[in-house]
Amino acid sequence: MTDTHPASENPLLSDFAADFGLPPFGDITVAHFRPAFDQALAANRAEIAAIAAATAEPTFENTIAALEKSGRDLDKVSNVFFVLAGADTSDAIEDVERDISPLLARHSNALYLNRDLYARIAALYARRDMLGLSPEQARVLDRYHTRFVRAGSALDKPAQDRLAAINERLATLGTQFGQNVLADEKSYAMILEEGDLAGLPDFARTAARAAAEERGHPGKFAITLSRSSVEPFLQFSARRDLREKLFQAWTRRGENGGATDNRALIAEMVRLRGERAKLLGFATFAEYRLDDNMAKTPAAVRNLLDEVWGRARAKATAERDALQEMVREEGGNFALAPHDWRYYAEKLRKAKYDLDEAEIKPYFQLDKMIEAAFETAGRLFGLSFTPAKVPLYHPDARAWDVKDKDGRHVGLFIGDYFARSSKHSGAWMTSLRDQEKLIGDTHPIVLNVCNFVKPAPGQPALLSFEDARTLFHEFGHGLHGLLSNVTYPSLAGTAVTSDFVELPSQLYEHWLEVPEILEKYARHAQTNEPMPKALLDRLLATRTFNQGFATVEYTSCALLDLDVHARKDETPLDVDAFEKQGLDAIHMPAEIVMRHRLPHFQHLFSGGGYAAAYYSYMWSEVLDADAFEAFTETGNAFDPATAQRLRDFIYSAGNLRDPAEAYKAFRGRLPSVDALLKKRGLVDVAAA
Ligand SMILES: [Zn+2]
Repeated sequence: MTDTHPASENPLLSDFAADFGLPPFGDITVAHFRPAFDQALAANRAEIAAIAAATAEPTFENTIAALEKSGRDLDKVSNVFFVLAGADTSDAIEDVERDISPLLARHSNALYLNRDLYARIAALYARRDMLGLSPEQARVLDRYHTRFVRAGSALDKPAQDRLAAINERLATLGTQFGQNVLADEKSYAMILEEGDLAGLPDFARTAARAAAEERGHPGKFAITLSRSSVEPFLQFSARRDLREKLFQAWTRRGENGGATDNRALIAEMVRLRGERAKLLGFATFAEYRLDDNMAKTPAAVRNLLDEVWGRARAKATAERDALQEMVREEGGNFALAPHDWRYYAEKLRKAKYDLDEAEIKPYFQLDKMIEAAFETAGRLFGLSFTPAKVPLYHPDARAWDVKDKDGRHVGLFIGDYFARSSKHSGAWMTSLRDQEKLIGDTHPIVLNVCNFVKPAPGQPALLSFEDARTLFHEFGHGLHGLLSNVTYPSLAGTAVTSDFVELPSQLYEHWLEVPEILEKYARHAQTNEPMPKALLDRLLATRTFNQGFATVEYTSCALLDLDVHARKDETPLDVDAFEKQGLDAIHMPAEIVMRHRLPHFQHLFSGGGYAAAYYSYMWSEVLDADAFEAFTETGNAFDPATAQRLRDFIYSAGNLRDPAEAYKAFRGRLPSVDALLKKRGLVDVAAA
């Protein structure tokens, strides 16, 4: 390759040889990214062209292994870039992101629509039983073949062209959908006076004052349509008229008529997705989407959702009666409405459990919870964590050298826990390098990025119980990356189906609630006393409170998502009528509205990552609840034999096996829904 920009000039293209393989963060500036991307993309294009144009008979080595070894500079540059774009961004990084996103999309499209390359993969796949492949190699070949076929590689040229046009149009519609929701959220604010705030706690008043200031109403209070503003208002505001007004605006995002109305967009997207599925040989989009997931078929998903739905509805009905009783006791002469539910549920929660966030927080210190997550990994998998002094991208980020029980280096773990303005909201796991053994024995570099409140200097960082759960959740994803033990990089760690990837993370949350972990690590920041038993009991008892509501709110969305993407009717979709008929058919309780109504259901229509897949959250919960019971059944939350199977078949296994086979290898059987019903408090209710 002619080298007009020697790699040595750009630190992103250097060999990352120091400090466990970390990028040289101190040498990297934003200006390095664009030229590094250009060079890495060109290099990868040349590699792919050479593999596709080879005149030698296709072999696993010269095609699949060659693809696995290609694109290494692109991976390096992308990993560093997207870590920074998420955790420490800037206007300059956002500029690069806008430029580079379409280039990366085009690069990936060109790969999957490369007909010569697909011909070689298809030839290998046809002879797969005669190639003498190891089970892992057979799995890699299978995954390549599936990915190419699902992207349309096997279609004739006119069909591929139509597919490309559909993809492009869907991308445009998806962006428009999200922008319309945002526009409806931005254009609305309920401006209030001090006297309108009855019931609101200090944190909600402070946020409302800041929101008003930002909107040019200093000294007043604004409630906006973002969930973090709406939900506390609905929960705490004693003003029924204002709750109703706000709830109306919130649930009508995307269907206000005019330029930001999403209903026509939904109809077009559903039609185009159906057409794409048919081009690829499936009867509906739902069948296409689920075929490469653990669930496999819409029927399997519907079975799960149906099993939960009846009980959730019955539980919600009982909850409604309790709330209605509260209304009556207060002298309220009205039937409970959707805008009343959160308010009365919060009152009932307080009356029943008397829990005060301020009482809980001192027991959940960030550093103690990190130690708790580490000790759990030590007891389950023999891992140890030693602080590592290495250069990182931000002073708040910390690193630990992870070793196994024989003292061998496993990987590097980076925790970046505090919120800051340069960080996107939410919490996530990502990596700077994935485990593999194809090119040397490569150890992973895994990150957890969170948004916990940074304490004042000298004060300990305190978490809510939810925050502590988030920490364990992300650490579970982290272990999925760290413990990975595969040869081929495309199978490493979290590269599993979207309805399986939350198993390691949601499962790990269970150990936060194990009594010996809480007793040892949930200690008061001032007194170092463990949490009093009575307080702990009350905290854990709230887990099943209001779960009928939460399950109905969620499951109705999952059912309508499945319905709309399994639609075979060719007539244009009438979104209003469809939603109404769908909800009538499942007897949706009148006092509960879908968590996301179709006109603003961004999981499905803004991008589409969860289209026909919103069920995944519950699918994973079935798995995690059932998987933790494997430990409970032994009477030991750290049972060594169960932990070993968990490591072998789940945490270290990446995508070596079909997810259902992996689960069966761990548990001896497929999961049952019973543990989930127990966890959500839905066992002793008859389906209604
Ligand atoms: Zn997760």
